[in-house]
Amino acid sequence: MLMRIKSVHTRCFLGLLAGVLMLATGCGYVAPAEKVPSPRTDGSVPTCGHAPLPDDALTLIVLDWDGGQSPLVRDKVLTGFDVTSLKLADGKSITQGEFETIVLNRVSEILCVLDPMDVAVIIGDGGDYLDSTVIHITGDAPADNAKHIGQSHFDLCNEHLDDSGVIWGGALASRIGGATLDEWVNAFANTIAHETGHTLGFFHPDPDAVQRLLLSPSTEIMRAHTNTEDLLKPQAFLLDQDTCPGTDGVGDTSYRVTGGVAYELQ
Ligand SMILES: [Zn+2]
Repeated sequence: MLMRIKSVHTRCFLGLLAGVLMLATGCGYVAPAEKVPSPRTDGSVPTCGHAPLPDDALTLIVLDWDGGQSPLVRDKVLTGFDVTSLKLADGKSITQGEFETIVLNRVSEILCVLDPMDVAVIIGDGGDYLDSTVIHITGDAPADNAKHIGQSHFDLCNEHLDDSGVIWGGALASRIGGATLDEWVNAFANTIAHETGHTLGFFHPDPDAVQRLLLSPSTEIMRAHTNTEDLLKPQAFLLDQDTCPGTDGVGDTSYRVTGGVAYELQ
């Protein structure tokens, strides 16, 4: 019987630390024969031809660039994000609408590897979409000089349609400083897709497993700690969702990653 790694990996890890060969049920780790190339790490941007229309999607993700009010930040109305606050190192100029659209398309493409592909992403006013996951993108930074660039609900098995996320654009801008337009697009799209991943049930993979399973670990988008250099490059979902305790293998609310790497115990 397949078990999800999240429910047992701590036990196995401690066993290995103690130098004990863990043969107990649930601790036989099955790694692929060899590391596989990571998809979409060459900077190319494939198009997603099979995302559902917004009305047909199980989960609708609304990117709200006007900030707004998130249940994650109860005491504050977030200010909107203004693209002119970004330093463009390559001297290009871009309008707010153009930037929002490029980031939207990139986020859609990052999410498009999920299987089942039942997620649609749009730009909108979160207040108009009560049963949708709203990602508030703000020019603000988190309170108390906190360093995080995004936060979101962790929705274990994607049971809730109305999750929330916050992308702290002000924190991203001060952390990155100057970057090319492509790099800014990557930074925002990677952060948005990471937080969206939490609302779909993805959590941070075990760093040891990331190193062991992936040829280019820095490109795994759900890693807990990604440095600025990695954030500016294309990142992707490479490891299956491992947290939803379904039955055998994939359940109705679990996601596989097309072309990705299996991540589970036997
Ligand atoms: Zn995270």
